[in-house]
Amino acid sequence: MSPEELRQRLEFYQDLGIKQIYRRVSPVSEMKQIPKDIQLPGLVPDGDTLERISADIGDCTRCRLCKGRNKIVFGDGDANAKLVFVGEGPGADEDEQGLPFVGRAGQLLTQMIEGTSAKEGIPLKRRDVYICNVVKCRPPENRTPLPDEMEICGAFLFRQLMAIRPKAICALGSTAAKALLATKDGVTRLRGKWHKWRDIPLIVTYHPSYLLRPYNQDAKREAWEDLKKALHFVYD
Ligand code: URA
Repeated sequence: MSPEELRQRLEFYQDLGIKQIYRRVSPVSEMKQIPKDIQLPGLVPDGDTLERISADIGDCTRCRLCKGRNKIVFGDGDANAKLVFVGEGPGADEDEQGLPFVGRAGQLLTQMIEGTSAKEGIPLKRRDVYICNVVKCRPPENRTPLPDEMEICGAFLFRQLMAIRPKAICALGSTAAKALLATKDGVTRLRGKWHKWRDIPLIVTYHPSYLLRPYNQDAKREAWEDLKKALHFVYD
């Protein structure tokens, strides 16, 4: 394994929240038997593309979420986007249409992206960014994805982000923040400042579904501030 492949592999484990690894020491005689040209499958295949990732997902049955889904919601938008939004997982409307953020929360997200951009003098439409989720299949009753579901589907999210290589990522809500920052901290603590996913700047803000609740109007103002920050960083 080359040093670059080793670095990628360690980063992948770090993204999954694994903080410690150990090296099994093999007896020298055993090590001699390992062929030198052994090829381990790459975690991120060279020249990875969204098409290839989608093909690898296929008609996925890797976790229990496949049982209740209608359509896999892979992601949508510009494959060369400078800004990527990551949500939690599809809801009923998304599951029906196979597209992310097309329900009420999606309409609010579109308004947030296009409204804030227009106000800030940035010519940006929803189609210019990329939008995807941590899990690609709708969890039953819209429950929060379970850790193993996030881990399995997270590998595809990481590949999507590596393939797009945006200038910044916006994590919408605590599930996306957990998946990308391997943290237990909530949105209130994480929002408003820059973090990093690998070497890509990442900002956390409230999930649009949370902002739809009438008693969360302060959060709405804060989410607009977060988005303004991300938009100026990416497009100025
Ligand atoms: N909520 C999400 O997290 N993602 C969607 O695609 C829709 C609603």
